[in-house]
Amino acid sequence: MSRSAHPAGPRYADVLPEGHHPAPPADLNALDPRVWSRTVARDAAGTVTVGGLDVGHLAEEFGTPAYFLDEDDFRARCRAWREAFGPDADVFYAGKAFLSRAVVRWLAEEELNLDVCSGGELSTALAAGMPAERIALHGNNKSTEEITRAVEAGVGRIVVDSFQEIVRVAHIAQKAGKRQRVQIRVTVGVEAHTHEFIATAHEDQKFGLPLAGGQAAEAVRRALKLDGLELVGVHSHIGSQIFDTSGFEVAARRVVGLLAEVRDEHGVELPEIDLGGGLGIAYTSEDDPREPHEIATALRAIVERECAAAGLAVPRLSVEPGRAIVGPTAFTLYEVGTVKELPGLRTYVSVDGGMSDNIRTALYDADYSVALVSRTSTAEPMLSRVVGKHCESGDIVVRDAFLPADLAPGDLIAVPATGAYCRSMASNYNHALRPPVVAVKDGTARVIVRRETEEDLLRLDVG
Ligand SMILES: *Cc1c(COP(=O)(O)O)cnc(C)c1O
Repeated sequence: MSRSAHPAGPRYADVLPEGHHPAPPADLNALDPRVWSRTVARDAAGTVTVGGLDVGHLAEEFGTPAYFLDEDDFRARCRAWREAFGPDADVFYAGKAFLSRAVVRWLAEEELNLDVCSGGELSTALAAGMPAERIALHGNNKSTEEITRAVEAGVGRIVVDSFQEIVRVAHIAQKAGKRQRVQIRVTVGVEAHTHEFIATAHEDQKFGLPLAGGQAAEAVRRALKLDGLELVGVHSHIGSQIFDTSGFEVAARRVVGLLAEVRDEHGVELPEIDLGGGLGIAYTSEDDPREPHEIATALRAIVERECAAAGLAVPRLSVEPGRAIVGPTAFTLYEVGTVKELPGLRTYVSVDGGMSDNIRTALYDADYSVALVSRTSTAEPMLSRVVGKHCESGDIVVRDAFLPADLAPGDLIAVPATGAYCRSMASNYNHALRPPVVAVKDGTARVIVRRETEEDLLRLDVG
């Protein structure tokens, strides 16, 4: 359970579990700019707009549920990361958070690089014109076909994740007459989660090669011997939704320690380190994420200090934010279908989507916020649980939230900060049709991923 503890108000103390959101917000009509994308606003008449467009009109035009992605906000976040890290570092957007051809073009224009971790993500990136040298391929079990396509396309690097893969990539590159740039994914023994991190001696997980016990050093030894590989560095990714840099500090120290070992043993200074992604965003008003420039300053200082202590030249740094770029830039718009009050418990608000468009609450017990956006209300706050329409009692979108007590079928409610890991993890459970992603900018809305149709479902079902 990753939630931070907050005392519940007396009125709800018997109902709200420990570690729950605090008492109802002072103003249910307020839209906290920390959790809504930059161009979302409620005007004096109470109308909520994004990119200058009325959400009620957007619902009419595009239907619900739907994701609305704020293009200006997305681009501004790309630029903030790019500028914070400067020309001596690379920012790779983690495509698994959300990927589409439009997004790839924005990334290319904003001079970010791109992480992919499957053949599907790779082909989307290439189809949208991302230069291959700016793409990195990840994954703990890349297929021979995926590696072959990546090598042939000329991706900038492959992050190798096992002893077998070192040989596999080397073999494929050699057959193609190439020398593939690779980094080795190492596990540094840091488990980072939201507000705390745990430094461990070894890590029990599927990714990477552990530093502890010497497997990472052995991987370097093997990679340096193979003609098909150009070993350029070491990669570490410690977790997700992280709010401070202390976990990165331990990771950087351990990674630089490996670089020093490599220098001592092989006489080579590997020129790159990647500290991964995982930077947190605000899902609720209680979350207080760091800005890219604060993260950049902290990470650079850590790496410089550790390298100075080890007598190493500072390697080229890269980072891989996914959620921190796309997460805050979108919200999901739903229509309320039913409102069911369970006296003394809470009110269940059912919407026209659910775990098929946002699995994170069911999967990780993630926190979200929600607001009534089709009108304002002066009604009392009502402790609510926003649930979907799926045949599963765990089909929860927002576990505990306050909505106005006059909420009724037909109202539109929106869940902010759904840009990352919502559409990309969406499913067809109950043969749900996955919602569209609509990009909004300067008074224009454009579908960048269309809504699925029943024909789409039937096309796969060959009878
Ligand atoms: C998932 C992942 C990321 C991005 O994580 P966010 O939490 O979205 O920033 C970056 N790098 C690697 C290797 C990952 O697996």
